[in-house]
Amino acid sequence: MTGRDDGTRPETGDAKYEERLQTFAGRELRASTPAQDPVNQPMIRHWTEAMGDTNPVYTDAEAARATGRGGVVAPASMIQAWTMRGYAATVSPQAARDGFDELVDLLDEGGYTSVVATDSEFTFLRELEPGDHVAVRESVESISPEKRTGLGTGRFVTTLKTYTDQHGETVATQRWRTLRFRPADDPKPEPALRPRPAVNRDNAFFFDGAKQHRLLIQCCAACSVLRHPPGPCCPECNSLEWDTVEASGRGHVYSYVVNHHPRHPAFDFPLVVAVVELAEGTRLITDLTGVAPEDVAIDMPVVLDWLDADPDLTLPVFRPAPTEAP
Ligand SMILES: [Zn+2]
Repeated sequence: MTGRDDGTRPETGDAKYEERLQTFAGRELRASTPAQDPVNQPMIRHWTEAMGDTNPVYTDAEAARATGRGGVVAPASMIQAWTMRGYAATVSPQAARDGFDELVDLLDEGGYTSVVATDSEFTFLRELEPGDHVAVRESVESISPEKRTGLGTGRFVTTLKTYTDQHGETVATQRWRTLRFRPADDPKPEPALRPRPAVNRDNAFFFDGAKQHRLLIQCCAACSVLRHPPGPCCPECNSLEWDTVEASGRGHVYSYVVNHHPRHPAFDFPLVVAVVELAEGTRLITDLTGVAPEDVAIDMPVVLDWLDADPDLTLPVFRPAPTEAP
């Protein structure tokens, strides 16, 4: 059982709340509201382009007439598009509040502050043609008792939208069900993980070594030249034979940047990312830790440290070398 009442909301199991909620059953939430624009060819064309729907009955009058229609028709699934309130109406502080807003307020009061659409059933009675002017009204069919779901405890709210034409005839209906729920109690956010390195056969040794806190450098088995980042072939002698040597862990800052943005949640910011040149001569890109960004300097001596980021990822990082005793 994960149910928990923190005392800040009414007891939603209580009869009074249930009664207030059920006054909405059967009630009209939104009176019939005409679409901003009549059905028109440009919007149909934009829609079919976006959907990749190449059926010519939507765009070619002759092709539409060949199917027995009077001319082009609108895709049935555009019905919602015609009656959308539009951005301005949605954000306007002067937007008139209606029954829908009142129902949402009451659900919020009960703690059902989250919403997810669960299903939508359409019935289409006739095809719309350019010049038709649609209106929509919405009423509540039912509000379910409280149910426990994987998302949280909530109620299924089913409404019926009725779409009519300029003659008041119904052209489509839409039964629209949403789950209004309290987010599951005590959600445990997943800890943000560092991005995974792309490990392959050439560089797996590097990350395997890191898991054992050993900083390995690839070394040509033929000419002994060291190389990093790892690769299959020696850039000096083209040999495919290689081995590794373990780095001493000493180096200096060759170059660096201070990263402020974007802020990946697995990192602390500001994040100092440096190119460190190892005493052995190869360079690697690494985080600098234990130093404020303004104190980092080119050529600053640094030493290896290890970051056990998570059970699957250990990475080398560097920090300023301790000042040597005189
Ligand atoms: Zn070589």
